Amino acid sequence: MGKQHINTAWARIQDLREGADPLTDQARGALVRSLYERRTALAMGAICGAMASTVVAFLSDNSLLYSLAFLLSSIAILRIVNARHLARNPDDIDADYLELTYKFGAFSYALVLGLVAAATVALDTGAMAQVLMITNAVGYGIGICAHNAARPTIALGQLTLVSVPVVWAVLAEGSVAGAFLALTIALLFPAMFSIVFSIFGTLRDSLDAADRSAELAAQMETIALTDPVTGLANRSGLDRDLPGVLERAADSGNAAVLWIDLDRFKEVNELKGHQAGDQVLREIGSRLSALVEDGGIVARFAGDEFVVTTRIDSRNAASMLASQILGEVRRPMRIDGERIEMGASIGIALMPEDGCTAEELMRHADLALYEAKIAGRSQVRFFTTDMTRDLAHRREIETELRLALSRDELSVYFQPIVDLETGRVRCFEALVRWFHPEKGEIRPDEFIPVAEDSGAIVTLGNWLTGEAARVAAQWPEDVHVAVNLSPLQLKAPGAALGILNALREAGLPPERLELEVTENLFLEDSPSIALFIKELSRAGVRFALDDFGTGYSSLAYINQWPFSKIKVDRSFVSGAQAGRKSDAIIRAVSQMGHTLGMEIVAEGLETVEQVKAVRSAGCTLGQGYHFSRAIPDYKAALLLAEETDSAKGELRKRRVG
Ligand code: C2E
Ligand code: CA
Ligand code: CA
Repeated sequence: MGKQHINTAWARIQDLREGADPLTDQARGALVRSLYERRTALAMGAICGAMASTVVAFLSDNSLLYSLAFLLSSIAILRIVNARHLARNPDDIDADYLELTYKFGAFSYALVLGLVAAATVALDTGAMAQVLMITNAVGYGIGICAHNAARPTIALGQLTLVSVPVVWAVLAEGSVAGAFLALTIALLFPAMFSIVFSIFGTLRDSLDAADRSAELAAQMETIALTDPVTGLANRSGLDRDLPGVLERAADSGNAAVLWIDLDRFKEVNELKGHQAGDQVLREIGSRLSALVEDGGIVARFAGDEFVVTTRIDSRNAASMLASQILGEVRRPMRIDGERIEMGASIGIALMPEDGCTAEELMRHADLALYEAKIAGRSQVRFFTTDMTRDLAHRREIETELRLALSRDELSVYFQPIVDLETGRVRCFEALVRWFHPEKGEIRPDEFIPVAEDSGAIVTLGNWLTGEAARVAAQWPEDVHVAVNLSPLQLKAPGAALGILNALREAGLPPERLELEVTENLFLEDSPSIALFIKELSRAGVRFALDDFGTGYSSLAYINQWPFSKIKVDRSFVSGAQAGRKSDAIIRAVSQMGHTLGMEIVAEGLETVEQVKAVRSAGCTLGQGYHFSRAIPDYKAALLLAEETDSAKGELRKRRVG
């Protein structure tokens, strides 16, 4: 053996010493357990040795050999019984104990077998008996080395214990053949040493590789279940953990699933950049996590949606948690030195009343969120069974609405807005009409909100603006057309350009288009809305504030934005609350409009008395069934033609009393 060989051999022996075992506990456990595998081969080996020694004892009729044979057989039986017992549940038994038991049995068996072989030589029992025992002992030593290579100490220990007595006995016998036999057996050592370590190395490497790939798989799993931006569970993580959380919560009472959707997140992302958006998400994520007790989950479900699930005592407690969440979301944050305020809508489903499975609770929380979003910003809704019904109805409308445009089921009707002084038609408001082949007419109040939710309003609105402009281009130059705009429509990319293009195609000057918007448009302080209004105003398009008096009725909006008209909602004119008080309000608004150079339109005029009342209160324009309902384009054209013809003004007088 060269010097280097001796060095590596020494290093290996060092490895064998206790405390220097380079294996992980898990790998060592697996290797120790492998000792107990192949139990039949082990039993066969033990039985062979025991039988051979018994035969030799019987042939020589020697009491020492009888005793040794008895001892060897006993050890063999004990080992077989013990291996069977331990094999029933080896994973539950400590690896140290398994190794120690094995070592004890293996070493004692090897030593006694070696002693039997040595005794046959020393007692001169006859050539064949000696051959039988020596081949048995040496064969066992070699075989067991291969079998137990997973634990080199045991393997080489057994080889040593079985061989040393034999070597000693054959040397003591003093013959040349005996000396050569001893040498042959001694030479087995380096050979077996190398084989054992080579097998051990291969086993250890494959265990290491298995460990590493298990670790890698665990890492991959964590990545797949985690949202990289917030570090919270992602949708898949939620899917995996939610059932467990609900199960644990069920043991102690109730649970709540809160589905949170951030308001205005898209804007932050678009205007301040994705990095700022990510920071907002991280901040919200950590604020939510701080609110949820241990054992709950906070997950980022998608984009700007979070789901919180936690054990909860009552509906009240869920409601309190929702308020806390709203409070935390709204608390201003500084992102890149800029102050950002967010809002959120929340839908809540409770276990057990709204469902017990993760799937059911998520579906119901989603429905509740949908309702919360419809109700406006920063709303919280608990799931109710009505929501399922409403949803089915809305879905039906949504699907049919998509087809309605292509099937030509939609048309634009026009309702005149009349000058209360002269009775002349000054403008027509374009109103969409849907005539469904089976269901008859479907009211805009029913399908416009659905179109707004589904985003179909953008297509519908573009189509309607184009149609209205095309029709209006045929009217006398001083007659305007008014079109209703939903907030979503004007936030769509390229909205302003789309409207200007529609006007150009129809050949309608921008000054003849009025866009009716409601106050809720200004609830969100959105730069895209400001930009839209500025761009179109500059081009000459006019704006009207619709349904005034139904919302916040803040005079600030009137001052801030370039409205040319304010449309006082019909509830002030013909509604239940119409009366002296609303009369006073109309008067005040009219006065203000007058000062600011705006016209005031009274909506919903149905009787001549109402016309007189709003006129004396200062309204300059009126709209309502008293003048006309919304009519198709050809009727509007007829009305205008009639007006030009009746120079005597009879018709006008009848209209305005
Ligand atoms: P709006 O903008 O306030 O439109 C006026 C509504 O009042 C119309 O209902 C009109 O038919 C109705 N009306 C007019 N005069 C009277 C009256 O004397 N008495 C009564 N009781 N009602 C009167 P319509 O057409 O059903 O539209 C309802 C709402 O749907 C509209 O309210 C508007 O917000 C929306 N809408 C209608 N067409 C469109 C559209 O093309 N685009 C958008 N975005 N919204 C639309
Ligand atoms: Ca309107
Ligand atoms: Ca209105």
